[in-house]
Amino acid sequence: MPFHALGLPPLILKGVRAAGYATPTPIQSKAIPVILAGHDVIGAAQTGSGKTAAFVLPILAGLIEGPRALRCLILVPTRELAAQVETNARDYARFTKLKMGVAYGGVNIGPQERMLRGEGVDLLVATPGRLLDLHGRQSVAFEDIEVLVLDEADRMVDMGFAPDLQRILRLLPKERQTLLFSATMPPALNKVAGLAVTDPVRIDMGPPSKPAAGITQAVYPCPKHLKPDMLTELIASTGAGSVIVFTRTKHGADRLTRQLQQRGLAVAALHGNRTQSQRERALKDLQRGRVQILVATDIASRGIDVDDITHVVNFDVPHTPEDYVHRIGRTGRMNATGDAFTLMSPDEQKDVVIIERFLGKGIPRVILPDFDYKRRIDDKARAAGIDGSSRQSRGRDEGSRGSHADRGSRDSGRSRPARSSSDSSPRAASGDSSAVFGRRPDRANSDRRSRRKM
Ligand code: AMP
Repeated sequence: MPFHALGLPPLILKGVRAAGYATPTPIQSKAIPVILAGHDVIGAAQTGSGKTAAFVLPILAGLIEGPRALRCLILVPTRELAAQVETNARDYARFTKLKMGVAYGGVNIGPQERMLRGEGVDLLVATPGRLLDLHGRQSVAFEDIEVLVLDEADRMVDMGFAPDLQRILRLLPKERQTLLFSATMPPALNKVAGLAVTDPVRIDMGPPSKPAAGITQAVYPCPKHLKPDMLTELIASTGAGSVIVFTRTKHGADRLTRQLQQRGLAVAALHGNRTQSQRERALKDLQRGRVQILVATDIASRGIDVDDITHVVNFDVPHTPEDYVHRIGRTGRMNATGDAFTLMSPDEQKDVVIIERFLGKGIPRVILPDFDYKRRIDDKARAAGIDGSSRQSRGRDEGSRGSHADRGSRDSGRSRPARSSSDSSPRAASGDSSAVFGRRPDRANSDRRSRRKM
């Protein structure tokens, strides 16, 4: 179904065309008519599915008519997502007179107050805490709100915003339309949803939290202390363009950023301890190609929309399968292709298995043919001052761990690891000639299972 058949007014269709969208995505085809009809919605859509336009376009259509006042509130979990949703809304509304605004914490509240008290806005994208601060200072009034959007609602609840959301819901007019988008429905969110929506239409785009089809996934088994080396080699050997590397902790992100910079790579860090301007600069630098690599914690895994991310690397295996899906959704957006690599140390195997169960399929194990797992282990042992005999046994020990690497591999064109001229065929780190290469994920998985039994 083309955009013009969805019931959107001409000025908004013009904005859609100017944004370069030719046809609606599935969530847009489903959600736009339902939202235009005024229904409350609970929606689950894959990241990168075009969800933002699915709710922003029909909202703008409703705002074109009627008084100038703050009539739509969009709540999101992070500042980055807030800025991004507002930019999109501004884009789609460029041929209208509607005014968009954004408010989030971590920056001076003054300009946000002036924006809201001065000319005012028709649509405000905000994080919950800052919105309540603004309301407490009487810089924003809610009596004209007609539409409320809770975007990435599960994430807001995860981040501890449930009490803020409940407070905001109590302050809003009861007569309104509410659209709630969430990949999952944890119990804490159920309570918020119960307060927020009335008789909602459920829009579920297939199983939630499924990675987009264009993303090629691979797991690189690797002892923990070799991960920075492995990452550097992967980036060099796969011809990676823009890369997002995820770590579990802020401290880990800073440490890895320094390590990669020491190796001459152009890297920026994005996490909750960075100031807002540092975070914005990091994203801009990645977007403009000033840095190749962004090292981030999960704060960046949701909603952030940077074009042409060729690789997402999980330097640490994420805590939950949902985080995995959101992280790797930073690449392969809108039918593009991308690679998602996960560096897995032996103690992280169980987390990867949980992710595979969630995805309903195995992820191929891959080894880097020219990565000398053993020599580097010996080097580390030497550096740590371990004597010959214990070094040997440690080496064997790590070597056998390293043999996770031979459980599978793939052979997929662009991402294929570079090979040295002296060794033109991939090989298993442990020298196991039965190591599989280029196998499909499920085959690799059953292979893993049979090996476990041995
Ligand atoms: P979202 O899931 O809202 O973050 O959107 C992901 C990306 O898809 C963004 O870069 C949007 O600009 C883009 N997008 C949204 N709708 C369409 C469409 N109908 N056609 C092409 N690109 C789109």
